[in-house]
Amino acid sequence: MVVDVDLKPLTLKGLDKKRPLIMAGPCSAESEEQVLNTARMIAAMDIPVFRAGIWKPRTRPNAFEGVGSVGLPWLQTVKQETGMLVSTEVANVKHVYEALKYGIDIIWIGARTSANPFAVQEIADSLKGVKIPVFVKNPVNPDIDLWIGAIERINQAGIEQIAAIHRGFSSYEKSIYRNAPHWQVPIELRRRIPDLPIITDPSHICGSRDLLYDISQKAMDLNFDGLIIETHEHPDKAWSDAKQQVTPEGLKNVLDRLILRKPDLDETMMLTLAVLRDQIDKLDDKLINLIEERMKVVESIGNYKKENNITILQNKRWDDMLKSRLILGERKGLSEDFISKLFRAIHQESINKQTRIMNDE
Ligand code: PEP
Ligand code: MN
Repeated sequence: MVVDVDLKPLTLKGLDKKRPLIMAGPCSAESEEQVLNTARMIAAMDIPVFRAGIWKPRTRPNAFEGVGSVGLPWLQTVKQETGMLVSTEVANVKHVYEALKYGIDIIWIGARTSANPFAVQEIADSLKGVKIPVFVKNPVNPDIDLWIGAIERINQAGIEQIAAIHRGFSSYEKSIYRNAPHWQVPIELRRRIPDLPIITDPSHICGSRDLLYDISQKAMDLNFDGLIIETHEHPDKAWSDAKQQVTPEGLKNVLDRLILRKPDLDETMMLTLAVLRDQIDKLDDKLINLIEERMKVVESIGNYKKENNITILQNKRWDDMLKSRLILGERKGLSEDFISKLFRAIHQESINKQTRIMNDE
């Protein structure tokens, strides 16, 4: 279950500060002045890593696609003047060579690129023999294996300093988020590659600056390792992602309010939690037995339907059932979303079981 990747901890200068690792800077480098003004304010907050997009993958043509290589010397100046490490996105081999030529300290692979194994492989091949930390954003779709695959490709090229960036996932349905966080995906990534640092990108998850704090706090509560937050001297005038960028002051406001909780337990905590976890284990045991019992009834119904040649899906029954479970759940303070997901999963499994009874025997 655990993915075998050969990782070394991030050890670059400035990254040894206590968590979270903060990366901040504009969505896009726009001019030398904008980059340097923003960087100076960010450096004054003792933030170790500066970010700025030089090449911008835009959804539609004719949008601002980044200043290109002319912006790389500006990042060099940021590095020389402030001592911050500088980072940018690469989407192809040319970007890699340019970034390396100008001494970029960290490169990241964007969400649209990490969704494309050919593109990731070409970038990985161009990095053979190079020592540079590479951060891999989640692909636009919530496909954990595609994300892990991109990380493996980079790792197999010999890159050992890798972090994942959780930037959320696009969806057809509009929600309060620009990119739905689907926290289960990075949580599963942590389970599959425990040593891989995970950096959350609240800016691209939220799409607007007012939700940044909540997402950042949640990332900290999940014990993720860092935050990358788009920060611009004049966010409203930004050439890309204006709504989600904050001023350095706004960034400070988010960071100052963050509560960092302890990831490790002391002995008293361990004992207290052990008692409660024991109760959970017993309850889960009961839950599984109950589900087993329920599935036996599902089986009897399946046999009856088969004998009498009745369709498995009885829409009215399913609709009544879901509605009544939602009402029961609400009375018990269980969220509609949870009860709906739970019973949809149970119902689907019941259908699968009855399908086997009808067709296999
Ligand atoms: C960005 O970081 O500005 C960016 C383009 O991000 P993503 O690849 O997550 O869309
Ligand atoms: Mn952006």
